[in-house]
Amino acid sequence: MISGNCIRREDYFFGENFYYENILINFAEKTDMSRRRQPRKIVAPPAFKGYKPFGVSETNGGPVELLYEEYEALKLADYDMMTHHEACKLMDISRPTFARIYESARRKIAKALVETKQIRCVYGNAYFEDAWYQCRKCKNLFTMPDPGMDKRCPLCGAEETELINEKI
Ligand SMILES: [Zn+2]
Repeated sequence: MISGNCIRREDYFFGENFYYENILINFAEKTDMSRRRQPRKIVAPPAFKGYKPFGVSETNGGPVELLYEEYEALKLADYDMMTHHEACKLMDISRPTFARIYESARRKIAKALVETKQIRCVYGNAYFEDAWYQCRKCKNLFTMPDPGMDKRCPLCGAEETELINEKI
């Protein structure tokens, strides 16, 4: 079940017509085939695909790739102000693993800022408790109770929505 303080926007939900289902997607095979890592639970995907620095003539080399679980760790610790103890429970990982992911997130963000690099959000070894969809028209993110039902955007009503859990 989703914990309320981890949802950024209430309009992810549509009145009482929204329910939750647990869909477990393990992306381990898409990252590192040689090492099976424990999947990290993510409550909600980042609401952006990346960041670009401005005020510079050109970005410096390739983007920094911020994994979903790194974004989640940073959000839980520095935005939701959770202790590492609380955050690692929420992500269903050990405290040392959480500390490693969190440290990696901070280093990447720092590197992007200092070296004026773009940040690109990519799947790492994450899974969602819920199936998340994004509206192609208004970019609203929302969960869907039943995969069989109409996947119209609850905000703008557009029919063009996509399941983002499967996007890379
Ligand atoms: Zn929409």
